[in-house]
Amino acid sequence: MSDEADETAERKMQFLFALRSKGVTDARVLTAMEKVDRGPFIRGYFAERAYEDMPLPIACGQTISQPSVVGLMTQALKVSARDKVLEVGTGSGYQAAILSLLARRVYTVDRHKRLVQDATEIFNGLDLTNIIALTADGSFGLPDQAPFDRIIVTAAAEDPPGPLLAQLKIGGIMVVPVGQSDAVQRLIRVTRHESGFEYDELRPVRFVPLVEGLGRDG
Ligand code: SAH
Repeated sequence: MSDEADETAERKMQFLFALRSKGVTDARVLTAMEKVDRGPFIRGYFAERAYEDMPLPIACGQTISQPSVVGLMTQALKVSARDKVLEVGTGSGYQAAILSLLARRVYTVDRHKRLVQDATEIFNGLDLTNIIALTADGSFGLPDQAPFDRIIVTAAAEDPPGPLLAQLKIGGIMVVPVGQSDAVQRLIRVTRHESGFEYDELRPVRFVPLVEGLGRDG
């Protein structure tokens, strides 16, 4: 192997090792995360840190989540190949790209038009044709495409937004960070049963806030 190929293989091994050591053990999730290179989702100065297990800044003052948190949230979502998934908070598009390998279709929305445009370019380049990225205020969900088998919110809400709960199928699962934006939040998994909603608290996390309305660029 060339030095460069050696380095890539080594980096990939370390990346997967970090995921496993933080509790990402689901084989389908690990395979998807091995296939989606995080590099293209981070532009500019921080690109060289793409393979470290840390959140990094992206455009519009937002952040791409830490890979182990992406892995744990994806794992908690228990996505199956037939699922229609909604992601609120496209950001860089990294989480949506991973979901697209696990689900039938992924709708992802962000309040910043620029982030949606950049992510769409990456999805097209990677030929991820089952992702539909839209500029919208995701706190209202996506009524036209509802209901969803799975919903993942990658920005912190004070409570799980009502419209999102309403757009979850019976038997559906939603993963959402809940709490004040400037504090440590709790990652919650909501399962919708015939008889109502079941809430599981998973772990502490820290996300940028879910903000109402569209960004000034969109
Ligand atoms: N999942 C992303 C990281 C998301 S960061 C990734 O893989 O890179 C959180 C994102 O949520 C930001 O891009 C922010 O613009 C978006 N956001 C915040 N409030 C929102 C809202 N009401 N509707 C849609 N997107 C929102």
